Amino acid sequence: MSAEVIRIEALEKRFGTGVPVVALHDVNVSIRAGEWVAINGPSGSGKSTLLHIIGLLDTATTGSYWFEGDDVAAMSDRRRAGVRSRRVGFVFQAFHLLAYRSVAENVMLADVYRHGAVGDRRDRALAALTRVGMAHRCDYLPTQLSGGERQRVAIARALLGEPGLLLCDEPTGNLDSATTESVLGLLEELHRDAMTIVMITHDHQVAARAQRVLTITDGQLREQMIARSGQ
Ligand code: ADP
Ligand code: MG
Repeated sequence: MSAEVIRIEALEKRFGTGVPVVALHDVNVSIRAGEWVAINGPSGSGKSTLLHIIGLLDTATTGSYWFEGDDVAAMSDRRRAGVRSRRVGFVFQAFHLLAYRSVAENVMLADVYRHGAVGDRRDRALAALTRVGMAHRCDYLPTQLSGGERQRVAIARALLGEPGLLLCDEPTGNLDSATTESVLGLLEELHRDAMTIVMITHDHQVAARAQRVLTITDGQLREQMIARSGQ
């Protein structure tokens, strides 16, 4: 069996004091290297909160989380930020590309924040853009691209540091059905290349493209059993 990337036990997340909002309650999940997992659930159910905790952007109130075997609660803030920048790639619904920077520069900037090696930065950016089929647009501005192309660039940026885990929060939320299909096709390719992917979506059809679907309602996560023919 492949290595466990994520192990979460009895995790709870509360916001605020007084009467706190319980955003996540008794979450238990294990995700292994190479899995493509969708987290499906209605608005306000706790999807983004869980993704932020998985991606080391936030921490649990109680419970345990081991990322690549390391106890996250035992990490200093500095170490957690370091692990996040080296091991986790993020893709968001709104792309978050800088409008006045070229496609290549947008991808390279991911590395600036990570303090990555400078020497081969452009070559690595072009390799990441090649991987998502966007190298031919490296000198374009994001405003000259379609929504689907922008999301591909955002995925290249997330892949630049060769993360072990790709986290996508509603990656197709701003896309029409044709470009949604193209972005899902790209995630499928990355999954075939053994990338571990956790993808949040409120869209059941998008979720069904993953290998495994977890459903979250009112902060509680459940495995969705999917019967599939021919797979
Ligand atoms: P989803 O992504 O599924 O729409 P969220 O994870 O964003 O849901 O939110 C889950 C619940 O936690 C909601 O009730 C939301 O209002 C609450 N919540 C999220 N973030 C915060 C925060 N920073 N402070 C207070 N409440 C929050
Ligand atoms: Mg959300």
